[in-house]
Amino acid sequence: MSFDECYIKSVMRTIPDWPEPGIMFRDITPLFKDPKALRMISDAFIQRYIDSDITHIASIDARGFLIGSIMAYQLNIPLVLVRKKGKLPGETVSQEYKLEYGSATVEMQSDAVAEGDKVLIFDDLIATGGTVLAASTIVKELGASVAEVATLINLPDLQGSRKIQEAGIPVYSLMSYEGL
Ligand code: AMP
Repeated sequence: MSFDECYIKSVMRTIPDWPEPGIMFRDITPLFKDPKALRMISDAFIQRYIDSDITHIASIDARGFLIGSIMAYQLNIPLVLVRKKGKLPGETVSQEYKLEYGSATVEMQSDAVAEGDKVLIFDDLIATGGTVLAASTIVKELGASVAEVATLINLPDLQGSRKIQEAGIPVYSLMSYEGL
């Protein structure tokens, strides 16, 4: 089944002014209620990475986990988690990053990846790029390299994908939306 952006966008839902006024929240939950949509997006990512040399998928809390785990299963490679602060047990490495108001912190377990690993960072959406860049800082701190960042959705007007590319990391998104 080939990827059909019009179909996927017709299944997606946009919630205006949530969780704050001015934000157009791109809700991916309907994709999981539609088996055809879920298969289309999963297959698109699997086809992209089936012959790649990525060794790990680092998926981001929480919506990144959903497709990240399907990819890890189908590509037969390890899945490691990038979680919000305080969720992972054991020794962790954390990275704080700026939000529009305040800051947030993501963490990975210290043994999640290591030198020589080629990591694909996976999330549902790139907005300002802060989350993905914080994850990539941790991956590099652990000695691994970031092969690519993959997301379902890119919001290019927020400049996140540009910032990630300027940091030397390739970005691959299945679709984009204009505006915030
Ligand atoms: P950022 O760090 O600014 O790139 O934000 C990306 C993270 O915030 C992702 O994990 C998204 O799930 C979430 N996010 C940010 N903006 C939106 C939006 N407009 N719709 C849905 N999720 C969003």
